[in-house]
Amino acid sequence: MVSSAQTKEIIYQPVIGLEVHAQLQTETKIFCGCKVAYGEDPNSLTCPICLGLPGALPVLNKRAVEFAMRMIIAVGGSVNERSVFARKNYFYPDLPKGYQISQFDKPIGTGGSVRYNVGKEPERICRLTRIHLEEDAGKSLHPEAGESQTRVDLNRCGTPLIEIVSEPDLASPQEAYAYLVRLKQLLQYLQVCTGDMEKGHLRCDANISVRPVGQEKLGTRTELKNMNSFKGVERALTFEIDRQVKLLRAGGEVEQASLLWDEKKQMAEPMRSKEESHDYRYFPEPDLLNLTISSEWIEKVTSDLPELPETRKKRFVSEYNIREYDAVVLTDSRELADFYEQVMNQFDDAQAAANWIQTEYLKTLNDLKISIDQFPVRPKQVASLLGLVKSGKISGKMAKTVYAEMVSRATDDTESDFTPEVIVEELGLVQVSDESTIVPIVEKIIADNEPQVTAYRGGKDKLFGFFVGQVMKETKGQANPEIVNRLLKERLDS
Ligand SMILES: [Zn+2]
Repeated sequence: MVSSAQTKEIIYQPVIGLEVHAQLQTETKIFCGCKVAYGEDPNSLTCPICLGLPGALPVLNKRAVEFAMRMIIAVGGSVNERSVFARKNYFYPDLPKGYQISQFDKPIGTGGSVRYNVGKEPERICRLTRIHLEEDAGKSLHPEAGESQTRVDLNRCGTPLIEIVSEPDLASPQEAYAYLVRLKQLLQYLQVCTGDMEKGHLRCDANISVRPVGQEKLGTRTELKNMNSFKGVERALTFEIDRQVKLLRAGGEVEQASLLWDEKKQMAEPMRSKEESHDYRYFPEPDLLNLTISSEWIEKVTSDLPELPETRKKRFVSEYNIREYDAVVLTDSRELADFYEQVMNQFDDAQAAANWIQTEYLKTLNDLKISIDQFPVRPKQVASLLGLVKSGKISGKMAKTVYAEMVSRATDDTESDFTPEVIVEELGLVQVSDESTIVPIVEKIIADNEPQVTAYRGGKDKLFGFFVGQVMKETKGQANPEIVNRLLKERLDS
């Protein structure tokens, strides 16, 4: 018997596993020819098959299978040669068939793992249990203020999903977050899912339990649902770990339950028991054949896989000789990495391009609130701009002015054929790099400021900036700062 004083000393360790549903970005649904699209009129994208009308027969979408295979192969899992679709029976107003076609004991993919980093800690690995294919249900639109009825939109019925089930390898909410970030990055690189959690293209349920540090046996777990952002998942897990630990420390017991995360209240509450007591009575889907996948097909999908983030990052470091940190940022998304490489096809200073993209480029995305594919300026124009700076024709400061003008002209698409050279000319921005022009000015500034020169030579190093400022002022900001610095140093430090 442990006294309550001792109970309080126990340190608990969380054990987390995630189930992620990813909507596959196929043209059509998984078992019929209806278009997959968002924002269309409710119930306009339906047919007898996805409505589950009697006698309608499903036909499997080959593309959905291929997308699932891409992900399984990318995480190092096995694509099973034979898998079986099964009916998962339950009633819900947005599921008119009364069952969902899923996979049960014979999924399309088994095993694999996802590597992730939390801050600067060493890389960790979360093993995957399985990846299976299934169809999505429709959507219930619950009444908003002033409305009294729930409406049902069945456009989403039959949208292909993969469910990615992890082993309980995640040891903290921060690890769960990092794992999700990596999973989304992979799905996006593979172009199988947009990864947009706010739009519901990616959904995540979490299984969570706690156990005393050192104990092998797992504690009773609860399931968390209804989180709609990665940060929401992190917050919900933090809340639930705290709740379970407090409960156990107070001598209570965790009850197995499904909890709904309420982002507004920042708390998780049990679902009504009616909704959680499922007996799905899975059985093989009689209207579909077993799914058999040939080794040739697996080889084909494997060889068609794009370069994945980890490989691309390593290549960026070795091929462009940039810092690893920069390579991580630049390979964060496939589109960003592509943009960098397109600039590098026309420019030869890899680190300068890397620096520019991480500052100006990302700042523009942020300022204009646009996504990478909406970035207005073309890689060729960026390469020219960087070339002007590198050759000393304009200063880094002038480049910012030119770039701002480039963005505004590119966004106003009546004029997209400009070059940075034209803008430089129009704005009259020329950098003076000719030493014979700068030397007399430097010498004049030194001669005019004798007290400061004496103070500087006497140890007031900070005054160096004063001299640079004076020269720049005298040249109306057009002198090449590198040359100004060098010429001043030569004269002041001698
Ligand atoms: Zn349909």
